[in-house]
Amino acid sequence: MREPITTRPTRPTQTARVLAALLAGLLLAACGKSGTPPPKGPEPKDLPSYPVATNVTLDSPTFRSAKARGRLIVGTKADQPYVAQQDPASGYYSGFDVEIAKMMAASLGFPVDRIEFKTITSANRETSLQNGEVDYYVGTYTINDNRKKLVGFAGPYYMAGQSLLVRTDEDDINGPQDLAGKKVCSVSGSTPYQRLVKDYPKATAVAYDSYSVCVDNLISLQVDAVTTDDTILMGYAAKVPDQLKIVGQPFSKEPYGIGVPRGDQTFRLALDDAIVAHEQNGDWKRAYDATLGLSGVPAPVPPPVDRY
Ligand code: GLU
Repeated sequence: MREPITTRPTRPTQTARVLAALLAGLLLAACGKSGTPPPKGPEPKDLPSYPVATNVTLDSPTFRSAKARGRLIVGTKADQPYVAQQDPASGYYSGFDVEIAKMMAASLGFPVDRIEFKTITSANRETSLQNGEVDYYVGTYTINDNRKKLVGFAGPYYMAGQSLLVRTDEDDINGPQDLAGKKVCSVSGSTPYQRLVKDYPKATAVAYDSYSVCVDNLISLQVDAVTTDDTILMGYAAKVPDQLKIVGQPFSKEPYGIGVPRGDQTFRLALDDAIVAHEQNGDWKRAYDATLGLSGVPAPVPPPVDRY
């Protein structure tokens, strides 16, 4: 056996010990992604399946090009446990938003194997829809008037709220009122980041492309808190409950919509109909229970769909 190349042995510093503990924690959390089941689902066998509609016709450019292509291209997230997460080993996406995407596909006449998921970060959602890179987007996407100038939204299909994630040993931060002088991480192009900068200017805002990077920074003591929707934070906290906790009450309303190309009203209204149908036939609740429900919060009543 070859001897490892060594340099002068050094005593592990406090930072090195923290990093080692962090790595161990992350490895544990990552086990579920590479074959062994995660601590608590979602188990593929527990996920509902959605009967695929036949003979769907829609006078919609988005629908027509998906038909011609033979598959749907759907944007989502890849690093949000129980919401939208990609298994790095198999490439499969899972979570509540992924289930919503599959329900929509089924109503449009596309089975699961005719969906191509694409990871799109918060800051790139509008351009991906405007460029026709994706047919629709399901990924913790808040409906608001600014975004409606750029894209269309079916829904809402869920109501989230901005919240705070801290380390379990954090005593100083109990809500957004305690953020002055604290380093708070969020994601560029997200509504929670915008609210943090605007409403809590005494906090030091730190922005990355994805929430998992914020969470890594929280665990390794680089930031004091992560702020975004409770749905997303619940997933991270549920994965490592001995390290992370959510504090305070949600302090915004984040109605989740399905992003669609702005001009395609027919497509948007078809997805509105599909959302209502899947809420009424129980698919929505079954999907919630098999995914986001695993982070510990019982299924709420979905908000009413807002057709426009
Ligand atoms: N729902 C918020 C938003 O759309 C935060 C979550 C996210 O970045 O996806 O900006």
